Amino acid sequence: MSALLEIVGASKSFGGVFAVSDVDLSVQPGEMHCLIGPNGAGKSTLFKLVVGTYPPSAGRIVFRGSDITRAKPFARVGRGMSIKMQAPSVFKALPVRQNLHIALQDHVARHAIGAEEDRLLDILGLTDDADRPAGLLSHGQQQWLEIGMALALRPVLLLLDEPTAGLSPEETFRTGELVRRLNAEGMTMLIVEHDMAFVRQIATGVTVLHLGKVFARGSIDEIVADERVAEIYLGTPHGA
Ligand code: ADP
Ligand code: MG
Repeated sequence: MSALLEIVGASKSFGGVFAVSDVDLSVQPGEMHCLIGPNGAGKSTLFKLVVGTYPPSAGRIVFRGSDITRAKPFARVGRGMSIKMQAPSVFKALPVRQNLHIALQDHVARHAIGAEEDRLLDILGLTDDADRPAGLLSHGQQQWLEIGMALALRPVLLLLDEPTAGLSPEETFRTGELVRRLNAEGMTMLIVEHDMAFVRQIATGVTVLHLGKVFARGSIDEIVADERVAEIYLGTPHGA
């Protein structure tokens, strides 16, 4: 089986300081791969290399068999990546359905948009809120709406940066159920996350970053049982 996404020897330095250092990571089709690690480990920087926010200082990124190391973000999206950054960026003054409509209009035939809005509203649990302005939704609901807007692009790889940040335990659990359902329908995902209960709920594979390098990789059970991993989390604000 060939990887959907392959990161090969990726490094990124900021003024000579390496935020990401010689990282190899591959995501297979159908995986729900979680990237974890203490604050400052380099997770967001690696995520930005995948998304194309900036190019790596060294290394390669291969997506669906093509080298995209130097490709602009919009070109990556065109090849089937869709991204949800950490902070919600929905159109708060517009109804929930209209937010989905805007995301769908360039990707779905006009006559099919209404049905696709309904399908996404159902998946997101937002059917009853379809006509409310998005700004009146809870923080969790806004996160789900934004996941829906990312899905509207019909991606083959969905990238989520800390989708549970700021959510209650109940909302976090529901987010886990949402992404599990998407994965069951075939969506491959790479997810940056620090909530270990959430990672346990969803991950098919875990990579631990520490000081910009791959520190450990394996199943969630292997990672939780690894005392070296527990040690790197001690004394960090997010805990594990
Ligand atoms: P994480 O997401 O795991 O908390 P980051 O990737 O945000 O880690 O940061 C890794 C390291 O790189 C940190 O030391 C951070 O200060 C540094 N860093 C991240 N982005 C920049 C930037 N744009 N300029 C300079 N240093 C940065
Ligand atoms: Mg981060």
